[in-house]
Amino acid sequence: QDTLAKVDPELWAAVQAENRRQEDHIELIASENYVSYPVMEAQGSQLTNKYAEGYPGKRYYGGCEHVDVAEQLAIERVKKLFGADAANVQPNSGSQANQAVLLAFAKPGDTIMGMSLSEGGHLTHGMPLNMSGKWFNVVAYGLNEKEEIDYDKMEALAREHKPRILIAGASAYSLRIDFERFAKVAKEIGAIFWVDMAHYAGLIAAGYYPNPVPHADVVTSTTHKTLRGPRGGIILMKAEHEKAINSAIFPGLQGGPLMHVIAGKAVAFKEAASPKFRNYQEQVIANARVMARVLGEERGLRIVSGRTESHVFLVDLRSMKITGKAAEAVLGSAHITVNKNSIPNDPEKPFVTSGIRIGSPAMTTRGFTEIEAEQIAHLIADVLAAPEDAAVIDGVRSKVSALCAKFPVYGQ
Ligand code: PLP
Repeated sequence: QDTLAKVDPELWAAVQAENRRQEDHIELIASENYVSYPVMEAQGSQLTNKYAEGYPGKRYYGGCEHVDVAEQLAIERVKKLFGADAANVQPNSGSQANQAVLLAFAKPGDTIMGMSLSEGGHLTHGMPLNMSGKWFNVVAYGLNEKEEIDYDKMEALAREHKPRILIAGASAYSLRIDFERFAKVAKEIGAIFWVDMAHYAGLIAAGYYPNPVPHADVVTSTTHKTLRGPRGGIILMKAEHEKAINSAIFPGLQGGPLMHVIAGKAVAFKEAASPKFRNYQEQVIANARVMARVLGEERGLRIVSGRTESHVFLVDLRSMKITGKAAEAVLGSAHITVNKNSIPNDPEKPFVTSGIRIGSPAMTTRGFTEIEAEQIAHLIADVLAAPEDAAVIDGVRSKVSALCAKFPVYGQ
């Protein structure tokens, strides 16, 4: 049997190097995680060969009897996990899931309303350069002076502009979102209420973050963040919207679904229903809380919104006189991976920023608990306090190396 190593050593070397990087660096990018072996096994299976346009039992290709089983398992499991009436597990990504909602419920020129990207929203919720911003009339809400979602303003804007779709959900917001409050105003103005729970899905599945499913017409998510599945998207919906959403995904936006990825999603949904996953999510929240407390209270950095109630938080770096871009680079050189992120009212451009985003899902998967979370927060603060001191960076890198060796991800 040919192997990747034999057939394509150049590519094999890149895969090995990436594997090493994942083992040797502390991963704090809030939207990343490490999937289990069974998820990778499903994704690396022969299901990658199969065309299956359509839906289980109603395909446009022969030979779909086994992939039908895989897709039906994914559908049933995710419906049960979140208490949804109906589910579509075919979106190739979170962005495509979001495009499907827009395609199903709005026409170009209609008004949509979401959280502004610069205050925590996602680009598919109406950013000017994204399709959502180019094809729709976007009204954005944001944060109040306490850096919490400004619900009063959101309601006033919704009543004034009467959007066709009201969107809740964020990529960089650490607090719980009051989905019920959004749902009430959406109902009042006759809008479709769409929640994008991509960041919080794993916490929600485990019961540690409010579940939007009972309140929303439609809920989209990625499967690869806190939910710890393969890269991809899902859409959950009320029964009355199933037809519109399914036809928006196929034939509206996609052709043949990625059956190997859908198989990986089915495995991840099974894992997410286990008591082990619940314990994992509890630790995710505990680790984020410890890092925010140490950075905020012990090391004097400002935490946006003052705290975290989830897996993620933003750090305002202005007091350290370092930009987000520079912080990301110097932390990277110490083998701590974060991403730069705009803070509310950021004076810097989006490619520079005054903040970093820190997330606990991946570091928790490798086994770090509060003890390591505390150490890591101090290591981050040490680097940020002396970004030009090579001895400090070297010292932090060797401590990171010791922590990573003690907690291997895949152990290879
Ligand atoms: N929605 C939210 C809230 C996100 O944070 C993201 C990813 O960052 C997406 C959607 C898009 O997902 P994908 O990168 O799979 O297109």
